[in-house]
Amino acid sequence: MNKIAVKYTRVSTNQQDARGSKVEQDKHIEKFAEKENYLVIETFTDTDHGDKDNRIGLEDLKSYLRLNQSIKYVLVYHSDRFTREFRNGMRDLFYLEELGVTLISALEGVVKVDGTYDSLPSLVRLIGAQEDKAKIVKKVTDNMYNYAKTNRYLGGSVLPWLKVIKGDISGVRCKIMVKNEDTWRFYRKVLLDVIRYRNIAKSASVNNINAVTLASWLSMPELIGLRTFGKKGKLNKNHNKGRRKEYFTTDSPVLPALLSKEEYSKIQEIRRTNRVKSREDTEQYIFTNMTFCGCGGKLAGNAFRKGKRLHKYYRCEKCKIRYNAKVLENILSEEILNHPHLHMINDYEFRLADIIDEITEYKITLKKKQNIEMDILSLIIEGLASKDTASKKLKELKKEITDLELIISKKEELLTEEQQKEITEDHIEMLRFFLTNITEDLIQDLKEILNLLIRKIVIEDLENITIKF
Ligand SMILES: [Zn+2]
Repeated sequence: MNKIAVKYTRVSTNQQDARGSKVEQDKHIEKFAEKENYLVIETFTDTDHGDKDNRIGLEDLKSYLRLNQSIKYVLVYHSDRFTREFRNGMRDLFYLEELGVTLISALEGVVKVDGTYDSLPSLVRLIGAQEDKAKIVKKVTDNMYNYAKTNRYLGGSVLPWLKVIKGDISGVRCKIMVKNEDTWRFYRKVLLDVIRYRNIAKSASVNNINAVTLASWLSMPELIGLRTFGKKGKLNKNHNKGRRKEYFTTDSPVLPALLSKEEYSKIQEIRRTNRVKSREDTEQYIFTNMTFCGCGGKLAGNAFRKGKRLHKYYRCEKCKIRYNAKVLENILSEEILNHPHLHMINDYEFRLADIIDEITEYKITLKKKQNIEMDILSLIIEGLASKDTASKKLKELKKEITDLELIISKKEELLTEEQQKEITEDHIEMLRFFLTNITEDLIQDLKEILNLLIRKIVIEDLENITIKF
């Protein structure tokens, strides 16, 4: 016996609507309904943002349920289609509960809100990026702020001359940062060598460590045992993540000091006159590993020195064409930020639709080739074609089929990979911030985000750039 249900779909922009991702949601729900024995008798739909109040389709759905109390199920593709905003989401879910209606997500199953343990996942999901979360974050950061005046470990990377051990602070058992006896002498020597040679790069090379990393340590108050806190985090209402100019530094040492105050001030003096200039590091070329030339070659970052100036460029490994690094990076940043994909990239269906389309097309081609192969084979069997004349054609076909099968399996791998990636609006905001504020210490973060968002960039020439998200 079928369970009577209605379904609800929503896409967040008109563009997505045109892409037909509502159709995709419908398809998934219908499939789910058939499998789970639901009879869908009505559809409600909205096109807008999830956190916008008064969605017409949703309001219609609610009145409909009020009038037709025999309907006990609402099917959605994913609970975030029903709502993305916590307070309204709860209100709507309670409305359903009051009518004895259950919300069922094709992807997640029953979305419970009855306050039992089982309803926790739905609640957590609904909380999303809302104010309640902001309160929790504030509580945690306030707490961390207090602990920042101690040597308590608060997560993140640890300077290599320190280590984390179990300990306690005012009777509270926790992880603390202490001197790393194994590395302490080495890093102290590296720092003292900077003073000795009055040269950062020289100390780096003598001690075989990265000059850029060394240079980044030299201004740290941590060297004399002070602790800094709050360097990374929400910058303002537009930028959730970034590196703040203002941050907290303790008044007195709380960490083991690698240098004396005198040594530290000598290093500050050296820093002012001796900067690490040359950077052969590929780390600083943000678009390496994802950028390709029209000829198929990979573009790799490199630099040459002419007089006092360092010329940075990207060069194709195959045809050797070069692009000025700054020019290319600026163009790419612009292209990425203005690309329509970026505005809807967080939509799961949308991001995957392209790959699915590609796979479908390859499969159609494969099927055609296989049919031709079958036709030729049956002609041979029926004696209408000679094996010799057909064998060349068959060989060609065999190869094309193998190639296509390989492409399809690669694309399917990619699809699985992409399905595991979760991209949030936070990532996009961060990307926007990073691309407009590229600084050396952000490059690594920026590269990670770019790799998460962008599959491939192909550059035919500077006017002809394709970005695949
Ligand atoms: Zn090339």
